[in-house]
Amino acid sequence: KDNAELDIQEIAAKLVGGNRIALSKAITLIESNAKDHYQKAQELLTYLLPLAVPSIRIGITGVPGAGKSTFIEAFGILLCEMGYKVAVLAVDPSSTVTGGSILGDKTRMENLARHPNAFIRPSPSGGTLGGVHRKTRETVIACEAAGYDVLLIETVGVGQSEVMVRGMVDFFMLLALTGAGDELQGMKKGIMELADAIVINKADGENVTLARKTCREYNQILHFLLPATKGWQTRAFTCSALHGTGLEALWSVIQKFKEKGEESGVFTERRHLQEKEWLYSMIREKLENAFFDHPGVKRILPSLQASVIKGDVPVSKAVDSLFQEFQQNKPEV
Ligand code: GDP
Repeated sequence: KDNAELDIQEIAAKLVGGNRIALSKAITLIESNAKDHYQKAQELLTYLLPLAVPSIRIGITGVPGAGKSTFIEAFGILLCEMGYKVAVLAVDPSSTVTGGSILGDKTRMENLARHPNAFIRPSPSGGTLGGVHRKTRETVIACEAAGYDVLLIETVGVGQSEVMVRGMVDFFMLLALTGAGDELQGMKKGIMELADAIVINKADGENVTLARKTCREYNQILHFLLPATKGWQTRAFTCSALHGTGLEALWSVIQKFKEKGEESGVFTERRHLQEKEWLYSMIREKLENAFFDHPGVKRILPSLQASVIKGDVPVSKAVDSLFQEFQQNKPEV
């Protein structure tokens, strides 16, 4: 036990000092599914939480091929060169299902990975979506304690994970492409409503004119949507991740967003709300697990389920019986 505590202290001290190996170790601990690792990770986080540097958390989504990795690499290098410390994290919902991942496995962003100011971590794999949520949020805390003041959190555009990432970032942007006629017809409306900026990528070469046209079309539609952030009009921009154009302008937009939000209080308010939502979602998840793992519940659930399906027992009565079992016979933890 003493040894374990010493370890944590040592990792924490090195991590705060900017040691990337210590940061990687901390994240491995956070991502571990072993019970004693979980305890250790919580100990570590308690230590790190007050040490987080002020940061901006940016979510980036877009369909595969939109240019997310190209964009993050170029944008990340730009920010590193400006003196920021940039951490890149990924949330890949496919990894929870298959154990593999669309985002994380590829050797990507090699130039950014080599930059002394950058830290890149692939998506935690395996486990539930709720597990990935917790692990990513805790990884954010570890990165911020290690001095990373820009967090880029990437996710593939498949709905569920976008909502999750929106719930953990300050600024959320959608990387889009030209010729997005269908998207403009409402397919992506839900995601557009989450975004603080829509960035039409690949605005280079022969594609520039079309990209500008697409940008105008998005802006017209955005005009009629509710803004994702109070007091902020979401707008569309163009960029070329490949040629690095439009990236500085985008950074100015993000800084403006932060300044405005800090002035009005919206920035802090959102973070507080996100903490609160995280708390309640973890409570719900723990409750659900405790319920379904309860030996008594496990024992009587199959027959109750059969009775419900046959029409012998009303659903609400079955649920009441289950809760009675759950509340009366506390299992030893
Ligand atoms: P991801 O799947 O969203 O991560 O997309 P990638 O970053 O892997 O990019 C997909 C393809 O689009 C790659 O072949 C990139 O080289 C290309 N690409 C990305 N950004 C640009 C850009 O700004 N302009 C052009 N012309 N190609 C780009």
